[in-house]
Amino acid sequence: MGEAAIIDGKAFAENLRARVAEVAAGFLEKANRKAGLAVVLVGEDPASQVYVRNKGKQTVACGMESFEHKLPVDTSEADLLAVVEQLNNDPAVDGILVQLPLPGHMDEAKVIATINPDKDVDGFHVVNVGRLATGLPGFVPCTPLGCVMLLKDKLGSLSGLDAVVIGRSNIVGKPMAQLLLAESCTVTVAHSRTKDLPEAVRRADIVIAAVGRPEMVKGEWLKPGATVIDVGINRVPGAEEGKTRLVGDVDFASASEVAGAITPVPGGVGPMTIAVLLRNTIVAAHRNMGLEIDESVL
Ligand code: NAP
Repeated sequence: MGEAAIIDGKAFAENLRARVAEVAAGFLEKANRKAGLAVVLVGEDPASQVYVRNKGKQTVACGMESFEHKLPVDTSEADLLAVVEQLNNDPAVDGILVQLPLPGHMDEAKVIATINPDKDVDGFHVVNVGRLATGLPGFVPCTPLGCVMLLKDKLGSLSGLDAVVIGRSNIVGKPMAQLLLAESCTVTVAHSRTKDLPEAVRRADIVIAAVGRPEMVKGEWLKPGATVIDVGINRVPGAEEGKTRLVGDVDFASASEVAGAITPVPGGVGPMTIAVLLRNTIVAAHRNMGLEIDESVL
């Protein structure tokens, strides 16, 4: 067994959901209605169906309204845009999430651009990307925001720390880098063309792995005592034939021998994503109705 402290994302997410539920109860009193999250799912992708079901359940469990719109896989882009417009104009809907990926005949960027940025609780709209980059209040993508919450909970101030983000996707890597910069980290963003990844990782006090390659980051790459956040979710063959298991982008066995603290997979970053989505939704509900909210408790 390794020396590293385990960062328990499952427990943190449970606490966050409890805080969201308290704030949601206060919103109901002030606004005379529940805060509402609309989730749009096009097609029948099994993984997306599971995500949408879990989002709906957890939304209701937090005392908010869940609106699910399930559209057939052959829905036209125009019809999907019309649904988004209708949700933009619906005062009962505070947050809108269009489950990705969309079927190939749809332009994801165009669909996201149609969401009202003030209801864009996923933080993918270019207006929110720009707000994050310039330090204006907006909505930040849920997974990277969840990672920063775990880091601040573990380390307190991140100011002056060296961070490496492995991966530069719009959903995780880039917003992660922006958030760490906003926390005054010195940030390196690594990707598939990075010349010497182990060397970049060795310098870092904070390592964020968001690659999608099972157990790629090895313990011997790490600076002793580093804090490691593993965003990866990879299904690999299990010990028993026909069974699979989940692993991250970090080789947990070797990394936990060297790291100071590390998130496990599962039970680390994964549970944070929906909890932060609910947090973003209750924040959107208050902001859009001009109601005060103490965001620091969330
Ligand atoms: P993505 O869009 O596929 O991006 C992967 C990134 O990794 C790319 O920027 C790519 O570089 C980089 N990369 C690929 N191979 C590399 C290598 N050998 N060395 C260094 N960098 C390399 O993936 P994503 O959507 O960001 O997701 C990343 C992982 O996080 C996946 O395992 C995904 O399942 C997981 N995830 C988890 C959650 C959650 O916990 N809720 C949410 C979202 C994603 P290039 O840009 O150069 O191609």
